[in-house]
Amino acid sequence: MPEHIATPARTNDILRRHGFRFKKSLGQNFLTNPKILANIVAAGEVGPDDDVIEIGPGIGALTEFLAEAAHRVLALEIDPRLLPVLAETLAPYDNVDVVEADVLKADLATLIAEHFDGQHRVKVVANLPYYITTPILMHLIDTPIDFASITVMMQKEVAARLTARPNSKDYGSLSIGVQQNMDVAVAFTVSRTAFVPAPNVDSAIVTLRRREQPLVAVADQAAFDKLVRGSFVARRKTLWNNLTNLFGKDEATKAKLTAALAAVDVAPNNRAEQLSIATFAALTDALAAAGL
Ligand code: SAM
Repeated sequence: MPEHIATPARTNDILRRHGFRFKKSLGQNFLTNPKILANIVAAGEVGPDDDVIEIGPGIGALTEFLAEAAHRVLALEIDPRLLPVLAETLAPYDNVDVVEADVLKADLATLIAEHFDGQHRVKVVANLPYYITTPILMHLIDTPIDFASITVMMQKEVAARLTARPNSKDYGSLSIGVQQNMDVAVAFTVSRTAFVPAPNVDSAIVTLRRREQPLVAVADQAAFDKLVRGSFVARRKTLWNNLTNLFGKDEATKAKLTAALAAVDVAPNNRAEQLSIATFAALTDALAAAGL
């Protein structure tokens, strides 16, 4: 049995033999630490009842661990230069399909129907390309696919924003948008030195599971999203400043804003980061009641 793909020696050998040059623009930082890969698979609780979608297999470091634990693995890789490499490194595994695809353009439901049997839970496990972490997360959260869990490596700063609570510098529209529908937890953090080439940020493994019910019931999702995004546009300025930029500065609008804020007991000189998700939901309703 050859040593794991992710050992530094084997990774270097694979890259050298294939004459592979990293593309920074594709977020290519490969993990070279088998222990961390085993911990990622453990954090995802991947087992024989699971079919797993992996985004960005690289040279197959994580894919190999997933193949050993899961029922089947479908790996989506955007870089065509990696396809022949993966054909070689993953040859010992008959439960892995590699598809050349841009995850943001991929029709995941069709791919799942084509590659999985529908009898197993579907999970996502990936070491994400960091330049598109947020768009990928939104793509996964917004699909109607019922993933049993999403376990992904991302830069530590984004993990902090995903899990942030009110009254912290990391709390913002991303925290609210994701926590509204998902249970989010950081499993563990990883030093930049675990990758080749080393990125200039440290990383964290985050697990996301869809809540049975949204955290707070929101009557008008579009109005809620508009309010949350608009409230954080200038996060150091007051809520009043952001809301008048969002809704208008004329006297009639200001009177409606004043009434809505009073109805939910929020002072106009508060900052958006002081408002909980429930308060944003209540303010959305109060603004609608005030005619905004
Ligand atoms: N899984 C490997 C590992 O852990 O060592 C590689 C992870 S590397 C951080 C990110 C991978 O995502 C690269 O292989 C890159 O080519 C691929 N990638 C970048 N953008 C992508 C996209 N839009 N769709 C699919 N894969 C993408």
